[in-house]
Amino acid sequence: MGKRDSQETIKKRWFKWRGVDFNTRRSFFDLHPDHSRRLCTCPACGYPMLASRAGFDYCSLCHWEDDGQDDPHADEAWGGPNDHSLTQARANFEITCCVWSFEERGDFSRWNEATLFDERMIASKRRLRAAYEALMSCETLAQSYDQWQEIDVLWRAHFELRNAVESELDEMMGKTNKP
Ligand SMILES: [Zn+2]
Repeated sequence: MGKRDSQETIKKRWFKWRGVDFNTRRSFFDLHPDHSRRLCTCPACGYPMLASRAGFDYCSLCHWEDDGQDDPHADEAWGGPNDHSLTQARANFEITCCVWSFEERGDFSRWNEATLFDERMIASKRRLRAAYEALMSCETLAQSYDQWQEIDVLWRAHFELRNAVESELDEMMGKTNKP
């Protein structure tokens, strides 16, 4: 075990990490339902996240709400549950791992801001993204089954981290100020 990476090193690595591009991952997951747990791909992040399409499901990874919008109307901002056009949401996701940009973080309550933009939360989502992308190199269903176990472990860790980040904030702000 080496010594822990400094925040600076971690940050540099984040912004260097690219993974595969949106169209590559989305078409892989759409074309390989057996590797995708038969989930539908989210139109904003391209990972297999939704039980069905256009059912107003909320993507736990990027926080897009699936109102049915997709490629033919990607440049339109429909309003309703999503603040942005799909095109803008996709661009934001590549940087922040959510559909909003860093510049918008001031628009959120402290609690939502922390759970979306805390560096540890973004790092956790990047680990999840890498784990989903590893499905693309699974050659057998047994391998993809094992990889999904890994993804499930990372999701549990992600939600535990979110609880920890929220508790830290509770302590910092004093519970009575919570909106
Ligand atoms: Zn998504």
